[in-house]
This record gives sequence, structure tokens and C-alpha cells, in this order.
Amino acid sequence: MGRCRVGRAGQGRCLLPGARFPCPVLPSARPPTGGSDPPRPVPYPGGMRVRPTLSWTPTGDLPPGTTDLAPVADALSTGGVLVLSGAGISTESGIPDYRGVDGSLNRHTPMTYQDFTASARARRRYWARSHLGWRTFGRARPNAGHRAVASLGRHGLLSGVITQNVDGLHQAAGSEGVVELHGSLARVVCLSCGTLSPRGELARRLEEANAGFEPVAAGINPDGDADLTDEQVGDFSVVPCAVCGGVLKPDVVFFGETVPPPRVEHCRRLVREASSLLVLGSSLTVMSGLRFVRQAADEGKPVLIVNRDPTRGDRHALTRVALPLGAALATVAGRLGIPVDSPAPRRAGP
Ligand SMILES: [Zn+2]
Repeated sequence: MGRCRVGRAGQGRCLLPGARFPCPVLPSARPPTGGSDPPRPVPYPGGMRVRPTLSWTPTGDLPPGTTDLAPVADALSTGGVLVLSGAGISTESGIPDYRGVDGSLNRHTPMTYQDFTASARARRRYWARSHLGWRTFGRARPNAGHRAVASLGRHGLLSGVITQNVDGLHQAAGSEGVVELHGSLARVVCLSCGTLSPRGELARRLEEANAGFEPVAAGINPDGDADLTDEQVGDFSVVPCAVCGGVLKPDVVFFGETVPPPRVEHCRRLVREASSLLVLGSSLTVMSGLRFVRQAADEGKPVLIVNRDPTRGDRHALTRVALPLGAALATVAGRLGIPVDSPAPRRAGP
């Protein structure tokens, strides 16, 4: 059983709906007063907040992007490179980016922690859409970009990989020790008792509870959320925590939620120990990633970015290469004499 995140924030009054009383973790915790108080988000004390900044407009004075991969190859040739990846590295695996011309934010508003915890209706909508999206994520395979990162790591050129993605594709490609800054869709956490469980297990329970739920989604989003109308969501049944009956949430950091401080500190240490920072496929719109770019720049370390569009970190970067990621990384690996493995037959996951 994990750490209770509930009672500590509310002077002993449980803030989340669906919890059973007496609470198995904090027996003194009481239900919400009158049952009508809206639950409040439980922040990780001192945590880094993922601001719901959904877009960012480049200013005119940013340095232009290039197609010259030499600085990236040079940095990698000396080793100690820390990779920070974002949704852009997974687009070639069929998972759309949030941003850009075809970005999912043009048609999709990601779930916020506040909405998720405040409303049973929002949770039903989320789990119906996410349940469907999980099937698509299960079919996604690592692409040339993920495989190149794994090969660079195996050849000792990387000091680590931090990803903002929740799709598990770096690990599926063979990268080890990946820090999932925003968590993983492959895990589920109970908001009452903190128990972590595999997503596959929840998927099976949701299948059983929702026989015949086969809507066709209009699209899929990088947070695993499929596009469904309220009509399609219908009366989808959400299942509770199998241990305590509490509310289940994917173990991902929603917009408006904070990244757990130990994870942030681990990432800061990785930046401190790295010789340079290589950003792959991130607009760096949210502070959770941009912060590490600023840290690297403050520490006098080269920041190199490979991203199709301008990013919020460009002013801190030595260069921004505006090339498709898979081809760019395969080219760099080739220049360094590192073979990129052929596609994996099937990914680990659901
Ligand atoms: Zn529980």
C-alpha cells in the first residue's frame, strides 16, 4: 500500500470522492462534510507545477532553425549527453503531437487534475476516452527516433533519458533508466490508498464492466485520450480501486498537477551531471521541461534542440535543428558509426 495523499492535505478530512471509511491508511480521516464539498487537488508539497499553459507564441527574435546536424553529432561524440524528449519523437509512431499545425490541442483540451478530482462525470468521460485510447497506444511501435536513442545509450554516449511522454516507447525500443517526468499510462494509482497497479489489469476490468463498448474515436491524443462525443461516452462504467474502493487515476501528471519533487530532483541531478542537453521533439511549452533547459544553460552546458518548429527554449540553445526526428537521429548515429537496430517485432505494454 502506498503513501496516502489524502488526509494530510485536509486536516484529517478526506478530500476525494469514492474513498471508503474508515480509511485503511489514515483511520482518523473523515468524509467530505455533508458530502457536498468539492474535493480539492492535493498538491505535492514543494512540487513543480505543470501549468496549464496550452500554447506559446514564438516571438520574432528567435534564432532560426538549421538543417546542420554537425553540432549534435559533435556533442554526442564526446558522450555524457542527457536526452529530454517530448511528444514530437512519438509522432512517427502514429501518436500525434499536442502542438503545431496538426497538433491535438487544436481539437482537444487535456484533462486537468482539478476537473478529474472534482467531478464523477469528468472521470467517467476521461476513463471512457482513455480506455479506448489505450488500445491505440498498445498498438504503437517505437520508431527510428526511439531506436536511435536506445542505440546511442547502448554505446555509452548518453548519460540519461528524461521523457515528457507517457507512451513507454523509449523503453519499448530498449532504452534503460528512462525517467518518465509525467508518469506513465501503463500504471494506475488509487487517489485514496496510493496503491499502484498495472494498466492492463484495469483495462480488463473496464472491458468486463463495459461489454459492447466499441465506439469509433475521431482521433487519439498524446495523453492517451481518444476523441469521443458525450453521446459516445454514454453510460460507461468506471471501476473503483480493487483494494479500497477509491478513485483510480492513471499514474500520469495531468495538466494543473505537480511533478513529484523526488522525480524533479532526480532530473536536476541528471542535468548537473550531464555534459550537454539534447532536446528531442518538444516545444518546451510547459515549465516542467523548460526548467531543465534553463538549468543546463545556467550551468554553461550546451543545449541542442531537434524540433520541427521553434521552441520556448530556443534562446538558450546552441542550435535548433528543424528536421524530422527519426531521419535526423538515424543520420547522426550513422555519422558516429553506430548502427540503429531494426524495428522491434512487438512492444512491451498492453
Ligand atoms: Zn485504493
